[in-house]
Amino acid sequence: MQDHLIRVVTEDGRLRAAAADTTQLVREICHRQQADLTARVALGRLLTGAALMGCLLKGNQRLALMVEGNGPLGRLMVETDADGSIRGKLQNPQADLPPRDDRFDVAGAVGRAGFLHVIKDLGLKEPYRSMVQLQTSEIGDDLAWYLTHSEQVPSCVAVGVELDSEGEIAAAGGFLVQALPPGDQEQLAQLENRLGTLPPTTSLLRQGDDARRVLERVLAGQTFSVQQQLPLEFSCPCSRRQISDMLAGLGQKELEAMIEEQGGAEVTCDYCREVYRYSQAELEALRS
Ligand code: ZN
Repeated sequence: MQDHLIRVVTEDGRLRAAAADTTQLVREICHRQQADLTARVALGRLLTGAALMGCLLKGNQRLALMVEGNGPLGRLMVETDADGSIRGKLQNPQADLPPRDDRFDVAGAVGRAGFLHVIKDLGLKEPYRSMVQLQTSEIGDDLAWYLTHSEQVPSCVAVGVELDSEGEIAAAGGFLVQALPPGDQEQLAQLENRLGTLPPTTSLLRQGDDARRVLERVLAGQTFSVQQQLPLEFSCPCSRRQISDMLAGLGQKELEAMIEEQGGAEVTCDYCREVYRYSQAELEALRS
């Protein structure tokens, strides 16, 4: 099934919810980042969280989530837009941590102390920036905490990544449920209790459920109307033009050094790992 997202509102208007299947884009991005097993689970959760939170963007708006903890992964950064294009990167893709209690030690890999940064480019003069301390470093909890306490929308977030016996991404996905103003915390708390009895989203996806079916289970018994359905995919907006602008912006001295000492330049995009090569002549053209 192609990666996709669905966003709904319950008929009584009290809950807004979204669910996403992100299996393929998580697989693709983890390959490009050469992430080890624990890093795959951590990055996959954050990518899924961005897909879910990104469903409220419009037009040219963009959302970036950055998790920076004191663990071996360093900085995790993901970006998405209103069209469902997503990219992500890891500062150190090798967490090199043994499992804890038979689970991948995501909290250990991210680090217990650190911050979740949320940056929204809403097309205004300055991007909106917010930052909260990591709560459990399991990522889903941290996103829920941010939404509930910083954006003040009571929220429940579940993001999951399941690996197969070869360590390949077998399924990735999750859901987000938010209480709409005046913010019915009680209804959300009831729902959270019941969610404990549901199988993980990744198990549902593996048995063939799509995002809509996942939400039907999550919102059991409540009728809802679909606000949006969106295909999701990995895509990196980097371009040769952008890299050329960046090189030109380095200034005369830097460019001259590249020409004289290296006889050219090679720039790799941190997100998609595409390599852009510049010959001496091309660098000289940028200098003028
Ligand atoms: Zn790129």
